[in-house]
Amino acid sequence: MGTRRGASSVLVKELLAESLIFEGAVGEGGGRGRKPTFLYIDSRERYVIAVDIRASRTYIMATDLLGKTLVGITSFPTNRDLGALITELGDKIKTMVAEHSSVACQGVGVVVPGMTDPSSGRVLHAPTLGWRDVNLKDPLSAAVELPVHVENSGRACALAQVWATRGGGHTGDLAFVSVSDGVGVGIVVNGEILRGRHNIAGEFGHVPLSIDGPRCSCGATGCWEAYVSNLATLSRYFGRNSSEKKPVSTENSAFTIEDLIARARSGDAKALAALHSTGRYLGLGLASIINAVDPGRLYIGGEITAAWDLIESSVRAALAERALTSLTARPEIRTVSVEEHPRLRGAAALVAAPAFAAPMVA
Ligand SMILES: [Zn+2]
Repeated sequence: MGTRRGASSVLVKELLAESLIFEGAVGEGGGRGRKPTFLYIDSRERYVIAVDIRASRTYIMATDLLGKTLVGITSFPTNRDLGALITELGDKIKTMVAEHSSVACQGVGVVVPGMTDPSSGRVLHAPTLGWRDVNLKDPLSAAVELPVHVENSGRACALAQVWATRGGGHTGDLAFVSVSDGVGVGIVVNGEILRGRHNIAGEFGHVPLSIDGPRCSCGATGCWEAYVSNLATLSRYFGRNSSEKKPVSTENSAFTIEDLIARARSGDAKALAALHSTGRYLGLGLASIINAVDPGRLYIGGEITAAWDLIESSVRAALAERALTSLTARPEIRTVSVEEHPRLRGAAALVAAPAFAAPMVA
């Protein structure tokens, strides 16, 4: 945070007074002065509820303040009628809170596949859900009687990466690309989430790769998302133009991206070719992100990461093709597997991180 020693002491005292941190072991002195006392984030006796709303299903998990799973994930099909979804989600959250009444729930973090205004909690536009300027925060907060935080899923993933990563020197500048029903991107520049004047900064999923490309859920054609989403990959495999179909959930249909990856591994050349194409388009879009914001590290999340060993060469070849300098031709890329639940950890970070963040970040 770049604060002076005196200012740090004041901040630490505040956090201690609020019981958000506690003092632990005393370390070895590094020469002069007092021995250091280690400080720990107090994740005991309190938890947060993380919610990941996707076009297909909605997932709920209880975590500690650091995003560690406390209660396993439950999920149900997403009702695109907002009122009905809030009722169902509210009931499930209330049940979870009632079952764990001995510990204090700090709030509910909700990530959505769309542009949001975190201050008002409104969803400005969620193309895959067909929502435009809807209030998610207030009715859900009223239903569950807890604070609710709403954020774009890509941005929340980026926030969780900053929140959870210790050292490494890259937390200040990163991009998180979440590939699933759609494509969500979160950009962190100088340690802060990039939002823009109207909360749509970083919507690389809707930057066109080709204006004559397939129809996107947002109504335009040729968006990056229309080339790399799970539906786009499946459509390529089945030889369908995705524009002929309304955007439907891939997880609700019988054949999933996981099935396609399994087929590619068992020698289905068409499945492998579909994945390689996705890899190439993924690389072209990543090159746009690099050329626009030049992050120190790229994170990729979503089901496609299970095929990373199959597609990495295609991704990197496309990246190198579009690189403007030799240094940006081979960026550092880390995959975050589905099992790590990046979106739910992102939802948890919405509740937990602001208490510790610098005011500009929170
Ligand atoms: Zn689009």
